Amino acid sequence: MCGIVGYVGKNNGVPVVMEGLQRLEYRGYDSCGIALLNGGGIELEKVTGKVSELMQTIAPRQMKSGVAIGHTRWATHGMPSRANAHPHISQDGKIAVVHNGIIENYKVLRDELENTGYIFSSETDTEVLAALICQAYSGNLEHAVREALSYVVGAYGLAIIHADEPEKIVCTRKGAPLIMAVGEDEYFVASDVAAILKYSKNVIYLENDEIGVITRDGIKTYSSDDEQISKKIHKITFKLEEVEKSGYEHFMLKEIFSQPQTIYDAMRGRLLPEEGNAHLGGIDHMTGAILHADQRYFTACGTSWHAALIGEMMFEQFARLPCEVEYASEFRYREPLVDAKSIVFAISQSGETADTLAAIQEAKQRDAKVLGICNVVGSSIARETEAGVYIHAGPEIGVASTKAFTSQVTVLSLLTLKLARLMGMSQENGKAICQSLQKLPENVEWVLKQADQIAEIAKLYSDASNFLYLGRGVNFPVALEGALKLKEISYIHAEGYPAAEMKHGPIALIDESMPIVAIAPQDKTYDKLISNIEEVKARKGRVIALATQGDERIKDIADHVLYVPPALSFTAPILNVIPLQLLSYYIAVERGCNVDQPRNLAKSVTVE
Ligand code: GLU
Repeated sequence: MCGIVGYVGKNNGVPVVMEGLQRLEYRGYDSCGIALLNGGGIELEKVTGKVSELMQTIAPRQMKSGVAIGHTRWATHGMPSRANAHPHISQDGKIAVVHNGIIENYKVLRDELENTGYIFSSETDTEVLAALICQAYSGNLEHAVREALSYVVGAYGLAIIHADEPEKIVCTRKGAPLIMAVGEDEYFVASDVAAILKYSKNVIYLENDEIGVITRDGIKTYSSDDEQISKKIHKITFKLEEVEKSGYEHFMLKEIFSQPQTIYDAMRGRLLPEEGNAHLGGIDHMTGAILHADQRYFTACGTSWHAALIGEMMFEQFARLPCEVEYASEFRYREPLVDAKSIVFAISQSGETADTLAAIQEAKQRDAKVLGICNVVGSSIARETEAGVYIHAGPEIGVASTKAFTSQVTVLSLLTLKLARLMGMSQENGKAICQSLQKLPENVEWVLKQADQIAEIAKLYSDASNFLYLGRGVNFPVALEGALKLKEISYIHAEGYPAAEMKHGPIALIDESMPIVAIAPQDKTYDKLISNIEEVKARKGRVIALATQGDERIKDIADHVLYVPPALSFTAPILNVIPLQLLSYYIAVERGCNVDQPRNLAKSVTVE
């Protein structure tokens, strides 16, 4: 879940690992550390807090080595502390382990090891790995790792060094991401390609249970049956600048402003405006199965779950295909009615979301066809699913998802269009949808121009303790997403509601201290929403309305009006969410919050 970086090569690996750790900081972490082999043994340094603090701590020591591993930790077992930070060292002082993920049976293993006299120095699950490898070691690290892992149940990305094999890193993974990369007389291991991209674009994706052995002579990979295998080297096409801030104050702001491009990228080569249709290479061959499935599910978590809700509404309204949306975390445990005639779409930005991966496993075990919609090429979800669509949003660094959400909805629009046409939507209607999709990047630009106005409104409401977001139809998930963004980055309690539900409970909360964001475009529920706004005003609530460009009437009732261009319900959620992203962003900035790394959150949630 957090970050691993390792280096073997002709140069000093310490700065490479430290820089890599800094690039992984966005994932959210509470402590970090580095271990290296110095000929005589293992040198270790760990701190709670930022990588910059680790840098300061190691600076006077002038640590230097051609073999180093580092880690940023997001605690799952044991409080964030120096002792619990990784790397973890075995009792004999010879082995250092960095681990992302969770060892589920660590308690049993720990008890057994303690019974044999092993003394642990942390509360982590990870330390049992150091202990098991230590016990299994008889001169060959990869063999010891293989044996140790045969006792382990759980998810891991791992990089390990041993003092007696001073030129080697052994790495492996199961259910957590890990890549290796090839440079010039230097080799890398990392949990995210961004960590090492500056040094190498030649990446090897490790599969579950494969073991990579990295030495100065190169990389050897072994299959789960311990056969040496040759792995393909993939060329990474995105540039390092793409993972940097390019002049914006925060990654989140950069990502919000990149949406005209990312939405365009999600459609690139997929829209067929002449035919009023769409083409999605990854799943075109599955459309028959989607149409004829007995059940269709979307499964996802967090922001992706909101995209799924929009997908459901579009599927049902335009393609007349019934479907269900499930929280991935619930899906797995509720004996879902899924079988060989079911289609399950798993949606995840990172493609590593543990709950979503578990839902995929559940669906597969029940013989369903599982399709993926994710951002990270080569991610676990991409590999675990039968077919799928990438959203091509590029690396998303801000923990609160913005551009990935609009790209997910864009891809779901394309998919809906394709299915709707097969289900009898006229070419003329298809063309109108294509036109509205084609205009999206330009319309998003138009909405983004209101950023300054939104920043002013944010100043007025940044001290609120609660917010209510109201929307109807396809804008109800947008209300949920607006509320989630505010919670995530400004720590203000916020709730999204279908507007008409307000009078069934939440209206009791309304007084002069309650700001309400009302998504009120000129669609068939406009008049009803205006009545809801009146109800709020009658109770002294303060209203920020999102309205269709040119709507003058709403100005008389709402305290503030933000405009969006007129849109079909296909594209409305994408346009409407953008002012809400900006509002959350500016409120969080006003409150002095750490926008890109909000407290308690991690970018990709790789634990269940
Ligand atoms: N479960 C391990 C721990 O709590 C690793 C957490 C992580 O992935 O950062 O130390």
